Amino acid sequence: MTDEIHSIDDYVSQDDVDISDAVRLPVGLEVNGTRYREVVIDEMTGVDDHNLSSKKVSTNGAKGVSMILNRCIQEVPGYLDQKRDPSKLFNRSLAQNLTVIDRDYLISRIYMLGGENDVVMAGKCPRCGDSWEEDTKLSDMEVIEWPEDKPLEIEFELPVGLTTVKDGKRVIHKKGRLRFPTGKEQERVGDLDSPASAFDAMFAACIVELGELASEDIDQTTMRNMKSRDRRYLMRHMQVSLPGLRQWKIVKCECGRLFDITADLTAFFDGRQESGNKS
Ligand SMILES: [Zn+2]
Repeated sequence: MTDEIHSIDDYVSQDDVDISDAVRLPVGLEVNGTRYREVVIDEMTGVDDHNLSSKKVSTNGAKGVSMILNRCIQEVPGYLDQKRDPSKLFNRSLAQNLTVIDRDYLISRIYMLGGENDVVMAGKCPRCGDSWEEDTKLSDMEVIEWPEDKPLEIEFELPVGLTTVKDGKRVIHKKGRLRFPTGKEQERVGDLDSPASAFDAMFAACIVELGELASEDIDQTTMRNMKSRDRRYLMRHMQVSLPGLRQWKIVKCECGRLFDITADLTAFFDGRQESGNKS
């Protein structure tokens, strides 16, 4: 932080990122069976800083992401025509229907379009509590695309299994399918205060099948009864199986324990909110 700035050019453009305003989504927006993968975006403006500082979104990062996307997305060729007024927002349901994968990807591209490229990956060792931080570039993060014809879900098999009682007998459910979470779930989860409740709500919404249980049999109470080992497995499995921006990586602590570090993309607009509020 002590590097001297020599010219105004260094200050304005810290990094030259070559990116077009037409981007291709790793998953695609699914509407009535058609998947739209091309999206035209705009970089952030003062309008976005203003929108982000509203009370409704300042306590829920996912709602902030939705607001940015509905403003910065200018066109979804074949589905939504180019906006007449670039400063206006698309309907709220657009960002809510995008998968979390495409949402994160779009946010990263919106930052890059605005000349931002530096991001911090951080995490804490669960054994000794040591913090880990390292700098990386958005442009260096790998992006994994999901095949066009593959359904938007992943299969899993719980290591322990969820037990229910049917006709006086215990049934163990292990194998299942999980649909990709969308902005709608992300916004709902963003209002919950504990990570455990967030987990229950997210997975209750996204598991479409678990053993003999159908999606309507699985609610937050079902999820709460799931063993810790299965809960940890689901988190990890979702992280490694979902396509999109590889915004996490596994590092080895000095104590020998392996753990994840992740890049928090919403940190970008925490900074913007603060600087916006001062002015
Ligand atoms: Zn450690």
